[in-house]
Amino acid sequence: DTNLDPWALREDFPILARQVHEQPLIYLDNAATTQKPQPVIEALNHYYRDYNANIHRGLHQLAELATEAYEGARVKLQHYIHAASHKEMIFVRGTTEAINLVAQTWGRTHLRAGDEVLVSMMEHHANIVPWQLLRDQLGIQIKVIPVNALGELDLDAYQQMFTPQTRLVAVTHVSNALGTINPVREMTAIAHDFNVPILVDGAQAVPHLQVDVQALDCDFYAFSGHKMYGPTGIGILYAKQALLEQMPPWQGGGEMIKQVSFAQTTYADLPHRFEAGTPAIAQAIGLGVAADYLTHVGLENIQAWEHELLTYATEQMSAIEGLRIIGQAPNKAGVISFVMQDVHAQDLGLLLDQLGIAIRTGHHCAMPVLHHFGVNATARASFALYNTFEEIDALVAGIHKVRQMMS
Ligand code: PMP
Repeated sequence: DTNLDPWALREDFPILARQVHEQPLIYLDNAATTQKPQPVIEALNHYYRDYNANIHRGLHQLAELATEAYEGARVKLQHYIHAASHKEMIFVRGTTEAINLVAQTWGRTHLRAGDEVLVSMMEHHANIVPWQLLRDQLGIQIKVIPVNALGELDLDAYQQMFTPQTRLVAVTHVSNALGTINPVREMTAIAHDFNVPILVDGAQAVPHLQVDVQALDCDFYAFSGHKMYGPTGIGILYAKQALLEQMPPWQGGGEMIKQVSFAQTTYADLPHRFEAGTPAIAQAIGLGVAADYLTHVGLENIQAWEHELLTYATEQMSAIEGLRIIGQAPNKAGVISFVMQDVHAQDLGLLLDQLGIAIRTGHHCAMPVLHHFGVNATARASFALYNTFEEIDALVAGIHKVRQMMS
């Protein structure tokens, strides 16, 4: 049961009132990026209109206000994922940058030729390519945790993949291509049994599930602001403090130092050691407001509502002749990835767009798992807290219309 009223919440999202091709917008591409509520938009405006200044520099009033808001946002996000300390929260550009940061700092210092990194078959390219770069640089090996026919990870196979050379597990919390919610708590416990740290890609989890990094006990957790109703260009790398303390800085520059001379430079304390240069100040503040918004709506309510949407859409869409849903795990977030007999995903996407319906088509930056299921592209509808049953009806009607046109 849910206490969420999507119609009331829709009023918070100005973009949902617009039209596309003279039709009301039906936005079902939320796994790519979510729309922004008024308080987030207002936070960006407010910052630029009233207290724009660089942070951590100068003692003038605007600099103090900006610094306070930026550091305040960090604490909001700390609470959002229940991290033990704000020092464990590094502002980055997004999930992609977070994972690259771990690969290039922790990875470069802790891995050597022959060491093994376990990733899953369903990873986004952002959790594959950084490890391949490291493979080219260091000669590490990448081993792939398999998925079953439903699109779930094979945990027995996972457990058997550990060897004395295994140094890291890097796995997604929720798959953007299949919707599968992975048992990352259990996977973390298994990794820790082998004394191996785990990185969790939380990009598709933080907008949908209550995430508690201490309960998960994961070592690294990465996410993007723009998929959780916040601005683009900002995200978080969470890492346990003990790990961050051992990691060398990544980018060098202002903000991340204590003292600089040509002979020797000392680095700032956590978390600033990993935040070289002027950060995305407005975006960080906006992301803090997005976290407040989600907390206010309630993650349990969001999860329950999106589950209702998923169940309804799965029923409706399964009944469409020739439609195959890729990814049928019992534990799924609000993502339906599908292919249709005789209709190319791209044509479907273009024709639905004419009806005002925005879905995603293509490989979803997860080429390996699509190939595993024997397809190059799928159409994907992904839900957010503001979607409604009526929008799913419109999607289903649209798919029927396209089928008729194409046959
Ligand atoms: N991982 C997953 C599971 C994702 O869905 C995405 C975004 N599609 C990313 C990583 C990359 O996020 P970003 O592009 O915001 O860095």
